Amino acid sequence: MIKTVKSINLKDKRVIMRVDFNVPMKDGVVQDDTRIVAAIPTIKYILAQGAKTLTLMSHLGDPSKDAEKAKTKAEKDGKAFDLDKYIKGKHRMAPIAVYLQKKLGKTATVVFAGEDGCYKKKAVIDGQKPGTVIMLENTRFHKEETAKDAKDLDKLAKALAEYGDIFVNDAFGTAHRDHASTASIAKFVPVSVAGFLMEKEVNYLEPIVTSPVKPLVAIIGGAKVSSKIAVLESLLKNASALVIGGGMAYTFLKAQGKKVGKSLVEDDQIDTAKKILEAAKKAAVEIVLPVDHVGAEKFDAAAKPVAVAAVNIPDKLMGMDVGPKTVVLYKKVLSTAKTIVWNGPVGVFEFDAFAKGTEEIAKLVAAATANGVITVVGGGDSVAAVNKFMLASKMSHVSTGGGASLELLEGKKLPGIEVTRSRDCFIAGNWKMHMTRPEAANLAKALVRSLKTGKHKYLVAPSFTALETVGGIIKGSNIQLGAQNCAAEEQGAHTGEVSVLQLKDLGVHTIILGHSERRHTYKEDDALINKKVKLALKHGFEVILCIGETLEEREKGKVEAVCKRQTEKGLEGVTLNDLSKVTIAYEPVWAIGTGKTATPADAQAAHKFVRALVEKLYGSQAAKQIVIQYGGSVKPENAAQLMAMEDIDGALVGGASIKAETFVPIAKCN
Ligand code: ADP
Ligand code: MG
Repeated sequence: MIKTVKSINLKDKRVIMRVDFNVPMKDGVVQDDTRIVAAIPTIKYILAQGAKTLTLMSHLGDPSKDAEKAKTKAEKDGKAFDLDKYIKGKHRMAPIAVYLQKKLGKTATVVFAGEDGCYKKKAVIDGQKPGTVIMLENTRFHKEETAKDAKDLDKLAKALAEYGDIFVNDAFGTAHRDHASTASIAKFVPVSVAGFLMEKEVNYLEPIVTSPVKPLVAIIGGAKVSSKIAVLESLLKNASALVIGGGMAYTFLKAQGKKVGKSLVEDDQIDTAKKILEAAKKAAVEIVLPVDHVGAEKFDAAAKPVAVAAVNIPDKLMGMDVGPKTVVLYKKVLSTAKTIVWNGPVGVFEFDAFAKGTEEIAKLVAAATANGVITVVGGGDSVAAVNKFMLASKMSHVSTGGGASLELLEGKKLPGIEVTRSRDCFIAGNWKMHMTRPEAANLAKALVRSLKTGKHKYLVAPSFTALETVGGIIKGSNIQLGAQNCAAEEQGAHTGEVSVLQLKDLGVHTIILGHSERRHTYKEDDALINKKVKLALKHGFEVILCIGETLEEREKGKVEAVCKRQTEKGLEGVTLNDLSKVTIAYEPVWAIGTGKTATPADAQAAHKFVRALVEKLYGSQAAKQIVIQYGGSVKPENAAQLMAMEDIDGALVGGASIKAETFVPIAKCN
């Protein structure tokens, strides 16, 4: 879940916020204020909450690259080039500050921090009256902003972090960039959250890839297959139909052996197109390609449109838009959808003679919205098309980020979003060696019913014998299936053991490893547990790694030493990437099954220590994100108190998990 400004206290706080004010400029005049306007709700909210100062930062074009291009062009055209004037008119933030002041009116005073850059502004910021908005100069005047090297990124990020107690990222348009002001800064501020624009974008775009309201129909168009392969592959997972239009359709038609005339075709992508068609067939995803076209003899706004009534295109023509029969076909497919995602125009909509198909699609999607379908439009040109037809307000969501929305639809993790994610509250039930299959089935059914409305992440780990039964019952619910252990080998002569391959076969999602009973009763040591952790991760499982000290160790003051050893050894050889699949469960062994509980403060101290350890091993971002469960006589009476602690992110519940009456209240605690 991403965390937003709504979830934190902003009163008297200094806020540093990344916005995307990368608006088109001409001679210092804003040409299109969409992006500025889009950030205003978050700005106003922060001010209304009584923030002490609100410092805004953004890039605006790319000064050095843009200037280089403009200079070359001027030289070619034989014109004089005035670098200072060019930069002033296109890249300086001062006019944006003035523009923002106009937009905010009496809400707040906007101060421009100066043309000398983003460093050393702490005194200027801290010297402002409470409630002032400070606009920093274009972050891209500093080469550190976009540096490849973490050291350089961190140099600027640290300086920017000085200006805030809280970092707010509302710059969705740059969320896919791993830059100093979009992501690195989060390493150096205590709290990082998203603004409302970012929240809305993520809330609409992310579920398309993770859990769309089905059926999902995707319309993918635009010029090239090559730029849309990843998004096509990603959408194949959830869509019932893929509508393919625009220039890229001709590569697909050619792959099917159709005649495409002079249409845009990427010959090196024909194999890819074939593969996608094949994969769609396997996944039973319907592919809808154009069946007629509007052609032209040349790619030109003034070219004469020629109707091509069939799928094959004559040699002298190129396909510029889809024809009327195709639109009828599109309409039929779109009428089956509960969610529609649209990326890429289906024709050369910039030329009026070839804009009809795209306009018809826009109308169909707008009509679907009115019928309650969730409709999401992403991609720079698709959004431009929807705006051109004045239908933007008729869609559920029109994304403000071209590249960022495409990457989200590809299923990628975006750096600027990841830094605003808060940890899941993860409640797991370890059923140990309890219950026969019918008993386990009853409990599973009760939990599915009761936890339907639960907001946390859930898991139950029945005994091996009940995995299949319980797995069948919780399938499709919000409860994941866990196993309590696995063998350290994939297969072979290991009497009495159960392997990862067998667990995979049963649909197990997560494996609990290093549980205190495995460590102490069955004498599993750190090396063996580490071997199991690595094997489980290699096979795509998530892992709950249990750690914790015995009473004797606690009394000797060894809590930290034991946690350190078990964490370090347990995670030895686990990559940063795999760490995202690891949850740590801190179980003070003396509090398991004894009815004794660590006080919330004791538990918090141990969790904080473990998190700091993860930071040393994997860096601050990983430490912020790793989920650390508490396990040690968690009961309905103490669950909420424990979970309220800063570093306690859930619970691994033992005894109290084998009855719905005790597990459900824990699972639903706030
Ligand atoms: P988005 O920005 O929405 O992701 P793309 O950048 O992928 O979309 O593609 C948009 C471009 O595709 C537009 O400039 C449009 O003119 C072009 N296009 C659409 N149909 C055709 C076609 N039949 N032939 C050539 N180009 C096309
Ligand atoms: Mg584009």
